[in-house]
Amino acid sequence: MDLKKIGKFIAENRKKAGFSQESLAEELDISNRSISKWERGICLPETAKMPALCKLFGITINDLFSGEIVDMKNNNAKSNDNLLVLAKEKEQKDRQLLTLEWALGFIGLASFLAMVFLSIPIAESHFSLAAAMFIAGFVIFMAAAFFALRIEQTAGYYKCAQCGHKHVPTFGAVFVAMHLGRTRHLRCPKCGQKSWQKKVL
Ligand SMILES: [Zn+2]
Repeated sequence: MDLKKIGKFIAENRKKAGFSQESLAEELDISNRSISKWERGICLPETAKMPALCKLFGITINDLFSGEIVDMKNNNAKSNDNLLVLAKEKEQKDRQLLTLEWALGFIGLASFLAMVFLSIPIAESHFSLAAAMFIAGFVIFMAAAFFALRIEQTAGYYKCAQCGHKHVPTFGAVFVAMHLGRTRHLRCPKCGQKSWQKKVL
């Protein structure tokens, strides 16, 4: 996706529709700075603002992603391209998140173990300090585990082993599910069966 081209396209359409950056920001209920960022090709408009933006400009979401008015003849091919790029970007982001999950788990466990090993030798002479260290290690571990699990819940999908349906379960469902690594025993919202569901991107 060509952010620079999309940015230029947004700026052109904004001027054509008679908006300044300020008045467009006001119309969409966002800051001027967001608009300037879109137009400089730093980021895309937030998904929630895209329909309103396109409506103001009289363009389609597909035009917006393409950074140009797509003629009807090319419309299908172009929107397929755009969907593919979006899917790829999500996949990449999910992959990075899952790497972060491993790192968080590792850091959490390492700091817990470090606190335990450091507190054992001083437990007799300084009991309350040792206890505080143990608790601190445990709290860090739990916080890391919480964030890691949150990432695992939202990045990618769980795939039902029975019907192949991919879904994002609730945090509660992931929290209580038995697991082997990232494969969890979950209920499929489509077929209703419980199975060992693999994490897929
Ligand atoms: Zn299923």
